[in-house]
Amino acid sequence: TTKPSKRYSITLLPGDGIGPEVISVAKHVLNLAGSLEGIEFNFQEMPMGGSSLDLVGVPLPEETLSAAKKSDAVLLGAIGGYKWDKNEKHLKPETGLLQLREGLQVFANLRPATVLPQLVDASTLKKELTGGIYFGKPRGFGTNEDGEEIGFNTEVYATYEVDRIARVAFETARKRHGKLCSVDKANVLEASMFWRKRVIAVAAEYPDVELSHMYVDNAAMQLVRNPKQFDTIVTNNIFGDILSDEASMITGSIGMLPSASLGSSGPGLFEPIHGSAPDIANQDKANPLATVLSSAMLLKYGLGEENAAKRIENAVLETLNKGFRTGDIYSAGNKLVGCKEMGEEVLKSVDSQV
Ligand code: ATP
Ligand code: MG
Repeated sequence: TTKPSKRYSITLLPGDGIGPEVISVAKHVLNLAGSLEGIEFNFQEMPMGGSSLDLVGVPLPEETLSAAKKSDAVLLGAIGGYKWDKNEKHLKPETGLLQLREGLQVFANLRPATVLPQLVDASTLKKELTGGIYFGKPRGFGTNEDGEEIGFNTEVYATYEVDRIARVAFETARKRHGKLCSVDKANVLEASMFWRKRVIAVAAEYPDVELSHMYVDNAAMQLVRNPKQFDTIVTNNIFGDILSDEASMITGSIGMLPSASLGSSGPGLFEPIHGSAPDIANQDKANPLATVLSSAMLLKYGLGEENAAKRIENAVLETLNKGFRTGDIYSAGNKLVGCKEMGEEVLKSVDSQV
C-alpha cells in the first residue's frame, strides 16, 4: 500500500547446486522487506558458473558482467560442482567468479562472524555463577616468604553449591538428550575433586541421565573438534566463563555465514560463504539463511538501506528463536524444515514486524 519511493536494480546470479534454491528464498525476503520500507526492486537473473558453461560455453558471459556492472548490487548464490571439476582453467565455474570480482573491482571482503546464541543451544552449558574462585577467600595481594609480591585467589565450593547447580544441570539434561558432561580439573585441583564427588553423588537421583566427566583442557579442545558430542555441560564459574565464550563462537554451520565484497565505487557483490553443496542440491535441504543474511548485507552495505536490512536480520533471529532449523543446524528439540519452509518462516517474521 505504501508507494515505493526508491527503486534499485539487483542482478541475481543463482549459479549452480543449491545456488538457485537459496537465491529464490533471498529474493522473496528482499522483496518483502523492501516493500515494507517503500523500496522496489527490479531483479534481473543472469547465467553464471557451471550452468552458464552448459548454456553458452563460458562461465561469465559478457551480458552477465555488463548487467552486474549496471545494477545497484549483485547477489550471488554459489557456483561449481563435480561436473566441471576436470574442465580446463578457462572453462571452470570458479574462473567466472574471479572474472566477476575483477570486473566489479571489489577488493574488500567482509565476513561478519555474528554470534547467534540460538545455535549455541546445540549444547547447553550450565555454569555455576555465585561461587568458586571469583568469590573464594582468602584472596588479595601480599608478599611471600621471600618478600616477593604476590596475588592470590582461592577456589572454594561447598556441598550445597555444587549440589544445586548439578541438579539444575541434570534436570536440563533430562529435558534434552539425557546426557550430562561435568567439566573439571580433578586431576590437579582439590576443589575440582570435590566438585566431581558431589556431581557423582547427585547423579544417584537421576539414574536416567548418562553422566560423563571431562577435564577442562580436553573439553576446550573437544568443543571445537566436535561440539555435537555434547548435550548438556555443567561446570564451575571460571571454566564456564571460558567455555561459554568459546561455544558462542561455534556458529553451527557454514550455511549461516554471509559475505560482502566491496569496491571503492560501483555495485557490491554479496554471497554466502558456502559453496554449491552438490551433495544436497535440488533436495530442498539447503540452509538459505547465509544467503538471506547476505541480502541483508546487500541492503546495508550495498544500498545504505539499514532499516530494511535490520528487518531481515531480526526476522532470521526470530525464526531461529521459534526453533526452525535446516538439517545442517538441527539439534533435537527443534523443528526440522527444508529450504523452502525456512524461507516461508523468515517471510512470516519479516511480515509480522512493526
Ligand atoms: P567450494 O569449494 O565451492 O567453496 P566446498 O565443496 O568446499 O565448496 P561447500 O559446497 O561450501 O563446500 O559445502 C560443503 C558441505 O557443507 C556441503 O557438501 C554441504 O553438505 C554443506 N553445506 C554447505 N552449504 C550448505 C547450506 N547452505 N546448507 C546446508 N548445508 C550446506
Ligand atoms: Mg569445493
